[in-house]
Amino acid sequence: MNTGTKCVQAGYTPGNGEPRQIPIIQSTTFKYATGKEMAKLFDLESNGYFYTRLQNPTNDMVAAKIAALEGGTAAMLTSSGQAATFYAVFNIAGCGDHVVSSSSIYGGSYNLFAVTMKRMGVEFTFVSPDCTEEELNAAFRPNTKAVFGETIANPALTVLDIEKFAKAAHAHGVPLIVDNTFATPINCRPFEWGADIVTHATTKYMDGHGTGVGGAVVDSGKFDWTKYPDKFPGLCTPDESYHGVTYTERFGLEGAFITKATAQLMRDFGSIQSPQNAFYLNLGLESLHVRMKRHCENGLAVAQFLKSHPNVTWVQYPGLEGDKYYERTMKYMPDGSCGVVSFGVKGGRDAAEAFMGRLKVAAIETHVADARTCCLHPASTTHRQMNDDELRAAGVSPDLVRYSCGLEDAEDLIADIKQALEQ
Ligand SMILES: *Cc1c(COP(=O)(O)O)cnc(C)c1O
Repeated sequence: MNTGTKCVQAGYTPGNGEPRQIPIIQSTTFKYATGKEMAKLFDLESNGYFYTRLQNPTNDMVAAKIAALEGGTAAMLTSSGQAATFYAVFNIAGCGDHVVSSSSIYGGSYNLFAVTMKRMGVEFTFVSPDCTEEELNAAFRPNTKAVFGETIANPALTVLDIEKFAKAAHAHGVPLIVDNTFATPINCRPFEWGADIVTHATTKYMDGHGTGVGGAVVDSGKFDWTKYPDKFPGLCTPDESYHGVTYTERFGLEGAFITKATAQLMRDFGSIQSPQNAFYLNLGLESLHVRMKRHCENGLAVAQFLKSHPNVTWVQYPGLEGDKYYERTMKYMPDGSCGVVSFGVKGGRDAAEAFMGRLKVAAIETHVADARTCCLHPASTTHRQMNDDELRAAGVSPDLVRYSCGLEDAEDLIADIKQALEQ
């Protein structure tokens, strides 16, 4: 199947007389005839559902669709993008371990790594997404367990050189984890460029309608954990909490990572997506390929208009010719990047705030990647505690407006921006 067909059909094939749409299995628990059958599930000896804190059939159908879209072997849904990021990293890096991450990542991921996971004993070294191979290689330590980056970073809109990061990760015997939220598998499939694990905030384009917060973790099944049993004992040695199962032996390279994350992290943290939200997510996925095209067309049209306007001091959009990341974008995402554009309004902070207040089509929201166009002025909202110097250090200039193009007509978005800029 091609990508568009997978968006519509992958993950669920009804049998004769069965529901055409994915059934919502709104049940916490599942019934068995004998205790023996149930015991086998608890020992991971047979496959099946017993409690929705760990697994639910609706979620698994939707996760299978996302795995198919990314070209992976297994996937799981989580309650949020934050939970997906945490599970992907914590599944292989614990207390005393170290992770190399791009510094240009989502603010929530940065806090998770630099504050909360640090408290759990996991140390992070942050490197520029544009660092040299030498700088990247120098960031590794003997206890490094993974490398992390974002295909297109939110909100900085930097583009990750996936091949370069994968090469460095593999040279040090660790996997590359890529947050593919902004590009989506429609525009980029990181596994094709060497990434090993992909994460998503399905909250964004995959849902696409501002309906449900959610996340996903996908495994390529390609990273050979068994080559480095000392680095990844959790995958390569017996798990005493499951009567000594060794994940790589029992589930193979294609299933070990997601089975371990389900059996241990979902069991203990329970950050599962509700089956109802998984159903909404699937509705979004059915049109993802159609919507992404429009988001990208609108993004490019808005970026080109902004570039030509005298009241705009700078424009950043990965798909705009002349952008710092244009060539890298054409390599990794030749069919489109995303619908998010950032730009500076002439006159700085006050002008940016005044400009946004005059927009009529775009709404001011702490959100991106939605059917409805939305925008945010970080300096007066998400980053308002910082002074102008601190803002610059964080890569957010005082005049920066983040504008997320929805699915409306580009003409209306441009006319709206034009009247607000000219006031
Ligand atoms: C929003 C976002 C997240 C976090 O997702 P939530 O669903 O809000 O927890 C992670 N990564 C990226 C790139 C995001 O845009």
